[in-house]
Amino acid sequence: MQSSIKKIGLIVILILVLPLSTFFIYQFASLNEYEKEINKIYLQQLETIIYSVNQYSEDVVSSWVNDVVLQLKQEKSKSHQNPIISQYQNVVSSIFLADKNISDINIYYNESQESLVSNELIRNELEIRKPLIDKLQKFLESGYQRIEPIGKITSGNKYLCLFPLNKNEVNWDLGGIIFDPARYIQQSLASKISQAAGNEFILTVSSNENNLIFSTDVTDSTEIVINKPLWLIPGYTLGIKLKSGSIQELVSQRFYTNLIVLALLLFVLIVGLILIYYNLRKEIRLAQLKSDFIANVSHELRTPLTMISMYSETLALNRLKSEEKKREYYSVIHNETNRLSKIVNSILNFSKMEQQTRKFNYENCSLIEINDDVFKTYEYHIKSKGFSYSLNQNEKVKDIIADIDTVSESIINLIDNAIKYCNEKKEFAININENEIGPFWEIKDFGIGISASDQKKIFDKFYRVSSGLVNTKKGTGLGLSLVKQIMKEHSGNVIVESKIGEGSTFRLQFNNNFNGKV
Ligand code: ADP
Repeated sequence: MQSSIKKIGLIVILILVLPLSTFFIYQFASLNEYEKEINKIYLQQLETIIYSVNQYSEDVVSSWVNDVVLQLKQEKSKSHQNPIISQYQNVVSSIFLADKNISDINIYYNESQESLVSNELIRNELEIRKPLIDKLQKFLESGYQRIEPIGKITSGNKYLCLFPLNKNEVNWDLGGIIFDPARYIQQSLASKISQAAGNEFILTVSSNENNLIFSTDVTDSTEIVINKPLWLIPGYTLGIKLKSGSIQELVSQRFYTNLIVLALLLFVLIVGLILIYYNLRKEIRLAQLKSDFIANVSHELRTPLTMISMYSETLALNRLKSEEKKREYYSVIHNETNRLSKIVNSILNFSKMEQQTRKFNYENCSLIEINDDVFKTYEYHIKSKGFSYSLNQNEKVKDIIADIDTVSESIINLIDNAIKYCNEKKEFAININENEIGPFWEIKDFGIGISASDQKKIFDKFYRVSSGLVNTKKGTGLGLSLVKQIMKEHSGNVIVESKIGEGSTFRLQFNNNFNGKV
């Protein structure tokens, strides 16, 4: 039986647990992948927003350049009161034009601002960038007027952008816009940045030294998820984060929620499997016990039947001459018939109990009287087996409400077992008394005893201890299960105390509160 249970355990593990665990591990891994994918998409979205702000900032300067070109074409450039500069009064501090060789430079100053650039300074800046100027010219020849951010050019924190011009159209090869970055951000970019941020994001602009120049909302710059350069102002960065926590926080929160749900599912599944395994194990054990029972009962029936048939045949053939011998044979037949009817009765009673059709006639009775009646009819049998017993009874023990027949049956079962599972010492002791729960009937034997683990099982139907001496004793494994059922019907209990090799004590414990109505 043990091996078939192990086999079932192994099958359950192989068929269910292994594939399911693999499935959950796979789910767990793909969950991780899935969350990573979401994170990637979110980050891409953030980058797109930053990109759109950068694009817009380039468009702003592009429109300035277009205005310059337009005005040059209209030959308004001669005037120092350049309308472009007045138009972007606070942002652009000067615009200059130069030829390819940087021999001729024309600067237009914003009069509202202190002029900080000199011809000399611009010439120096351009001299070192001749290759770049050539490159810009080449771009223009291929139809692309590229605006090149140069970066900081003066100590007054002004930034420069260069752009190529078509000499044939406007008489100049190169233009430059010098502007104030902080004002550019506040006046030209702020509204676009706020629009791009919407209600969901916080957008920031920080300078080289990680100084927060602008932010659409109050935020800690360390929480910014993505920082990207602001193309037009080298050294400045555009930052973005979600208003409600970081994306990583949201994603990991989701990840852990999913993980917990998965773990819970796995737990429920494993508990379910364990329950199935234990139920199966119980069923197999019961099936095994039933088949043992059939084998036991067949054996139990066959022995008395053989004896009866043998002895009655000898009598019928009149082979026995002495009257004494005949009497002995009759007595054997009588005893074996009794044994047979006892087995059949116990099976019938058990079956009635199982189907709950057994009738219980409850009445007020005395345990002492029930015990006396049992011993009156049973004393001969006990003595004939060579047993002696002691009786200790409290004469004042309370009456019980009980069904006399089934209580007697329980007592007989327990006496039978004390005789059956004896050792050399053919003795037992009966004790009738009461405790705080109610009256009790107790039998103490000095037999083979029952191990602690078997004590838990002996009241199960069909269970028989299968080791040691017990193997040789006949039985059906129904007796104690019947006693237990009977005591349950009386709202009482049957209790065992035993030690291997020392003997056992069985107690039928009745309940003061029982009134016969179940
Ligand atoms: P049966 O005696 O027909 O096998 P029971 O239900 O009466 O069935 O008992 C179940 C098992 O409990 C027995 O097989 C035996 O192993 C054990 N048992 C019962 N009574 C005693 C006892 N007094 N001493 C030792 N073992 C006992």
